[in-house]
Amino acid sequence: AMHRTKRRQSHDWQLFAEEHLPEDEQPEVELRRAIQKGQLRVLYQPIVDLVTGDLAAVEALVRWDHPTRGVLGPQAFLPAAEESGLINDLGRFVLAEACSQMRGWRGMLPDGRSLHLSVNFSPSQFARPDFAQDVLGIVDRTGFDPADLVVEITEGALVDEELVVPQLEALRARGVRIALDDFGTGYSTLYQITRLPIDVLKLDRSFVMEINGGRSSNAVAEAVVRIARMLHLDTVAEGIEEPSQAAELTVLGFKNGQGFYFAEPMTPDAVRTLISAPHLQKA
Ligand code: C2E
Ligand code: MG
Ligand code: MG
Ligand code: MG
Repeated sequence: AMHRTKRRQSHDWQLFAEEHLPEDEQPEVELRRAIQKGQLRVLYQPIVDLVTGDLAAVEALVRWDHPTRGVLGPQAFLPAAEESGLINDLGRFVLAEACSQMRGWRGMLPDGRSLHLSVNFSPSQFARPDFAQDVLGIVDRTGFDPADLVVEITEGALVDEELVVPQLEALRARGVRIALDDFGTGYSTLYQITRLPIDVLKLDRSFVMEINGGRSSNAVAEAVVRIARMLHLDTVAEGIEEPSQAAELTVLGFKNGQGFYFAEPMTPDAVRTLISAPHLQKA
């Protein structure tokens, strides 16, 4: 009962030594049950064409409706999911859920309009020999077009480059596109970027935050857009909160933008409403 009371007040598992929790309250036990009981759900954040303002894609972002702690964001449970290996089940759930929902939305798009789906995976997932097969199996079962899927990988996954690259290549062979997420914050070298099978660079939010109109505040963003152009990669700038940042990134040549300025992660119902009026540009 003691633990229970403490847990309720806590917003962070790290605060509690796991070995002191009864077995049924271990994070991974709780998370496994959450997946089974349908307590996980997916929100979608719009990714916008910076020039036209059109909705280009949505990024799937997982949430946990925890029975006692309220709505939890990924940082509250992804570490436990990764340590326990449950991240694989979680990933399958998110992908299957997002692909099914997307299939419903596709029919609502005006003629000739496309909508991509971006899904995050953790580094350990990419290193599994059956990762690509797993992803493509779910895509096929849900009737989703693999060419509409973008798989987001972080630079952390490149530590296991020799395991990860064949998985990326197998995905790309079916038309899936690969985005390097949080770009600029990790350890990848420019040399690695030139050799990797990737299609999109996502400029990390920390560099977008720097953009304030001051001299050289956009130096990293500018360098990234140039690298992308030379390597024929698409670009997304994430974490855009201010109209001035959107304007600056558009002038620099970023193709797409994402951030609270355009829209926060939203429920499937809100996406449906948005798709009925896909022009997202703010007045
Ligand atoms: P990410 O992939 O870089 O996703 C963007 C995160 O930034 C999201 O946080 C989003 O809500 C937040 N964000 C977007 N625009 C803004 C903005 O303008 N300002 C600020 N302050 N934040 C913004 P969220 O949903 O908490 O997700 C955090 C991270 O968790 C994600 O970062 C991604 O790495 C990971 N994640 C989310 N869903 C999944 C999943 O299904 N599987 C895996 N493996 N990882 C996931
Ligand atoms: Mg992402
Ligand atoms: Mg990101
Ligand atoms: Mg990020």
